[in-house]
Amino acid sequence: MIRKIDTSEIKKNVKNLFIKASYDIGDDMIELLKSSREKEESETAKYVLDQIIDNDMIAKEESIPMCQDTGMAVVFMEIGKDVFLEGEFVEDAINQGVREAYDEGFLRKSVVNDPVFNRVNTRDNTPAVIHTSYIEGDKVRITVAPKGFGSENMSRIKMLKPADGVEGVKDFVMETVKIAGPNPCPPIVVGVGIGGTFEKAAILSKKALTRELGEKSPNELYSSLEEELFGKINELNIGPAGLKGKTTCLGVHVNYFPTHIAGMPVAVNICCHAYRHASVEI
Ligand code: SF4
Repeated sequence: MIRKIDTSEIKKNVKNLFIKASYDIGDDMIELLKSSREKEESETAKYVLDQIIDNDMIAKEESIPMCQDTGMAVVFMEIGKDVFLEGEFVEDAINQGVREAYDEGFLRKSVVNDPVFNRVNTRDNTPAVIHTSYIEGDKVRITVAPKGFGSENMSRIKMLKPADGVEGVKDFVMETVKIAGPNPCPPIVVGVGIGGTFEKAAILSKKALTRELGEKSPNELYSSLEEELFGKINELNIGPAGLKGKTTCLGVHVNYFPTHIAGMPVAVNICCHAYRHASVEI
């Protein structure tokens, strides 16, 4: 049975999700920041975490963005195979939702029309970066992530050789976090994508940054890799805002995909403490 969904529903939800993600970090994140603060010994680290917690609570209570960089708009669309989208072309509807969110929600417009030569602001934060996939059922799942570039700029990808093995993966993740240092506004969340092709690994790492904190990989091998990397990153003493401390990282999420016999792509996408994402199923 085919279910019809008008793309005006998608537009409305995209708009609401971007505003929600930009204002409300979520109670779970606040609790995690508070418990991280309790574990800190350094007064500076405690102070920075207090500032972040206060900032996030004020943003939620006063309905204002938690950071001045309200990001480039990333949208994951998972479309049920029994859905028929009617109305406006779906990508136009998504971009209109982004336009309205950034305008009515007073979110900074940070997108330029040409990456190299002109760099003129599009003035409405479009176009969004849209990733579409198809799923079972008659629903559409929309996940949005406003992605700040302080952390995006510190992300890296490498085509490892199969012989590099899991140690090669760990070394590359650790090297990436060390190079990033204070630049991605720590405490960070680290998304890792392993496998597929060059671009698939990057998308896997981006999607890993839409996972709820505390949610582990369902694969035990990968969840123990997440745990090990989490421990090692927090021993780096980068700390909140890069001012040293135990809280460099709030989570490591690893996604994987089958790959070619000759390769092992690994992408590391870093997110700052403004770990913004929101989802809805319609
Ligand atoms: S990296 Fe994150 S916290 Fe830092 S300025 Fe950008 S969006 Fe804001």
